[in-house]
Amino acid sequence: MRTPFVVGNWKLNKTIADALALVTELKNQLGAVKGVAVGVAPVATALHSVAKRLEGSPIATCAQNCHWEASGAWTGELSAPLLADAGVTWVIVGHSERRQFFGDTNEGVGKKAKAVLAAGLGAIVCVGESLAERDGGNTLSVVDAQLAGGLAGVADHDAAKLAAKLVIAYEPVWAIGTGRTATPGQAQEVHAHIRKRLGERLGAAAADAIRIQYGGSVKASNAEALMSENDIDGALVGGASLEAADFIAIVKAARPS
Ligand code: PEP
Repeated sequence: MRTPFVVGNWKLNKTIADALALVTELKNQLGAVKGVAVGVAPVATALHSVAKRLEGSPIATCAQNCHWEASGAWTGELSAPLLADAGVTWVIVGHSERRQFFGDTNEGVGKKAKAVLAAGLGAIVCVGESLAERDGGNTLSVVDAQLAGGLAGVADHDAAKLAAKLVIAYEPVWAIGTGRTATPGQAQEVHAHIRKRLGERLGAAAADAIRIQYGGSVKASNAEALMSENDIDGALVGGASLEAADFIAIVKAARPS
């Protein structure tokens, strides 16, 4: 009953021309694919052009980050209302690369998610443990703290409204860009835990309806097995989203059977 959502996170890759070439191919080839929601997250400089090119297509234009304030003296930042102005409909917040290299904290991620929702956009809130945290047996407690922080500003408990605008992405840091994927069982265990926590925080109906993506070296060859788990509702895809054929194969693998 949850429509899987597959988003390509292009990170710091692709010129505007390259981005337009890729989305044009996706738009043409994914037009007939039913039962899966799709998004792409280009670099900020390409967002507006990509959103324009995707007009009339169900593919969503997503941003990779935003600031929590709407405007003001924040040199170099982009805000949720300005991203909306550029044609963005979803924003990824709390990606592990932001947490690792740019100091994003659980509290800051919560402020960003709140700002995204306040601007009427959808928030993809990323959580996930490092290898040391997993090896230390701390996966679930780390994810709990990230979820609590990330959802601190979520006030709307209407299940349908929330599910349309809030997605959690479970991305174990040790699986991102490493070629090492969590097994479907490892991922499902954490996804089920996240859904339980969503139920405690937001109520059973919301927990049932909110999509939880998996991210971490998702490829055409492992997507189907991951997507067949009960609580895995799509994917956040890095490396394999940069080539149309790879990304399209993942989107097709996410279709409900
Ligand atoms: C990501 O950046 O969110 C990601 C999951 O990357 P990759 O698919 O390359 O591991």
